[in-house]
Amino acid sequence: MEMCSVGGYEEVGKNMTAVKVGEDVFIFDCGFYLPGIIELQEHGEQNYTLSSLRRVGGVPDDRVLDKLGWTKKVKAIFISHAHLDHVGGLSFLIHRYPNVPVYATPFTVAVFKSLISDVGINVTNPIKTVQSNSVSKIKGTNCEIEFIHTTHSTLDCSLISLSTPEGKFFYSLDSKFDDAPTFGEKTNEKRLKELGSENVIAAVMDTLYASKETSNGTETDAKKMLEEAFSKVKDKNSAFFVTTFSSHIERLNNIVNLAKKTKREIVFLGRSLIKYVDCATKIGKCPFRKDIKMMKYRRQINSFLSKVNKDRGRYLVVCTGHQGEEGSILERISREQTPFQFRSGDSLIFSSSVIPTEVNIASRAKLDKKLESLGVVLYKNVHVHGHGSQENKKRLLNYIKPKHVIPAHGNRDQEKPLIEVAREFGFELGKTSHLVLNGEVLKLN
Ligand SMILES: [Zn+2]
Repeated sequence: MEMCSVGGYEEVGKNMTAVKVGEDVFIFDCGFYLPGIIELQEHGEQNYTLSSLRRVGGVPDDRVLDKLGWTKKVKAIFISHAHLDHVGGLSFLIHRYPNVPVYATPFTVAVFKSLISDVGINVTNPIKTVQSNSVSKIKGTNCEIEFIHTTHSTLDCSLISLSTPEGKFFYSLDSKFDDAPTFGEKTNEKRLKELGSENVIAAVMDTLYASKETSNGTETDAKKMLEEAFSKVKDKNSAFFVTTFSSHIERLNNIVNLAKKTKREIVFLGRSLIKYVDCATKIGKCPFRKDIKMMKYRRQINSFLSKVNKDRGRYLVVCTGHQGEEGSILERISREQTPFQFRSGDSLIFSSSVIPTEVNIASRAKLDKKLESLGVVLYKNVHVHGHGSQENKKRLLNYIKPKHVIPAHGNRDQEKPLIEVAREFGFELGKTSHLVLNGEVLKLN
């Protein structure tokens, strides 16, 4: 078994891993590198092309597979979950893998199809919707793929196990063992324990919070934090806004349930929010759809915001902009590009944390400063992360007992703590634990 670390081994994003067994190659994830995408947006390039994305490093550089002679051997592409840093690049690279089937769970498939339609391309590859906790044979190979349910921060997330004649390859980007989810099942730890005696040769593991010893908390904790923030908003005549990650359906469900108690009309604003809510609705996993109104287009949003400006106590607005992103609803309001103006005493809950990149830190600081100068009461970091901390990494290693550990989804500083965790389990750097750069090949046996 050989593995090529195509992307995501030097940064957070553009995740892509290829595994070769005999003459068959399998691809895991194909994501965007969001800082690259933001760079394009800042230069007014909204219609990305593969060449513009390659120029800014916005997608994994899969040309390494051409050099290795692997491209034509690809038999299947697996997508772990619906986050853009795992699925965003695929619409731009899929034409390089004609007729290769794509496997993913229902929500991920819905999001992938919506991304394809955004790009406006015709994809003829078979798209195979697989259920969580199911096994599928991969046509033309001796291999099987298993999608094992895990909790993270969007719907239908999976840990993926590829069964080959040589043993198993395990892919765990991204995951958190949430012991108290508020929507959907817990991680299938029973199945993970069984894998411990099924010859797992290698495990690629997410390292984002591998340096953090204590637990990142559960979605029940996040719900309590939200309840507390909601309870502080008492002024019935002022404006009330909430913002969170658009793909975090579980969080949105908690927000709507609390919002219903305020008796305000709940309105969702912004294209990305509507995209994910629509996808969740399509697969029957959007319990709050009947409780909200949604607005997507700028004219519609502006005319609605002019109503909010006059009748501030009537609505509760859930909108985009938690990172202060250019063009998001909050950013446009802060630049006075809409008919709504924030005033002293209005409330805004950030059910999110700032993704620590230079651009995000700067945009959020600018947004916060502007809103605070207007007297808006900001509730920040009403949030728990969807990535497991050290305790989770240990639990996973204990369960699946891989021969090799390969940290991914981070830069060197983020990956090293996982090497330290693995050392406690007897893994040796360079022999059974591996720090790799993008585009390297590792032999695993
Ligand atoms: Zn993710």
